[in-house]
Amino acid sequence: MQALFFDNELLTREIPVPEPAEGEVLIKILYSAICSTDLEIIKGYMGFRGVLGHEFTGKVLAPGQALDQKTVVGEINCSCGHCYLCLSGRQSHCTNRTVIGIAGRQGVFADFISLPAGNLHIVPDSVAADIAVFTEPLAAAIEIFEQLHMKPSKTVFIFGAGKLGLLVSMVARLQGFDYTTIDTVKEKTDFALGLGINSKSLKDVQPEDKAEVCIDCTGSADGIAVALAHLWPKGTLVLKTTVADTAKQDLNNIVINEFTVLGSRCGLFQPALNLLERKLIDPSPMISGRYEFKDILKAFESAKNPKNHKIIIRHSN
Ligand SMILES: [Zn+2]
Ligand SMILES: [Zn+2]
Repeated sequence: MQALFFDNELLTREIPVPEPAEGEVLIKILYSAICSTDLEIIKGYMGFRGVLGHEFTGKVLAPGQALDQKTVVGEINCSCGHCYLCLSGRQSHCTNRTVIGIAGRQGVFADFISLPAGNLHIVPDSVAADIAVFTEPLAAAIEIFEQLHMKPSKTVFIFGAGKLGLLVSMVARLQGFDYTTIDTVKEKTDFALGLGINSKSLKDVQPEDKAEVCIDCTGSADGIAVALAHLWPKGTLVLKTTVADTAKQDLNNIVINEFTVLGSRCGLFQPALNLLERKLIDPSPMISGRYEFKDILKAFESAKNPKNHKIIIRHSN
């Protein structure tokens, strides 16, 4: 089968169709999407070598099994189920985990993937297969609110109006927070405003403008310092950015202002699918380009353009 391989450079390569291990099923990829994490991996993040990609919708090919022919999305962390972290309910932090297209496991930029059946969620009929690729990043946005129980009266600043920042903003808006989404790029704040998201350019944010919760979705090593500068003392900084370039941050500020710092990564898929099914979140305007899988290298070039949001790839049927 064809796959997009990263080995210091991106290249399409013929590799064998994966053989499902015990408890796994074979999935034919229908749609995939390029995430900022994929672009960071190409710059050296995680030191990954192999087939890239983790955002997908696929069809299960497992004759005789309950999931056969079902359209599914899949959680990206594949855990062992028996280590201390798994047994204490922290499966996404499993010591022995592999992560689709990020660590130790083949990714979804290929014709097929094999995944543990337990990682899969059936896509509701009313959610189109190309929209379901947003389940993973939307789950990551929802994770913040799973981790941090904020009063709806709190003010929230979301830094970064990129793909994840917009999804976080949509979830914050849904919950009634007094939120503002801030970016340095005018096209991005204009785009956010067009989606009805309360958005502002960073240059229009005054030094005295502060929030109780600042969420860094900038995808930039410099984002933390900006977010901290606009956080009230005793406020919470939520970090969503993972970059190849690591940030250097003066921690004195955190001590003096008694900030809480919360790292936030992957989230639960079911609430994300619920929001998509109930049409409470519509990510479709965020699709900036569509490519066929054979043109995936062009799709990557398009994804690198900071003005673009989600790039969707259609795999052949
Ligand atoms: Zn992603
Ligand atoms: Zn484990």
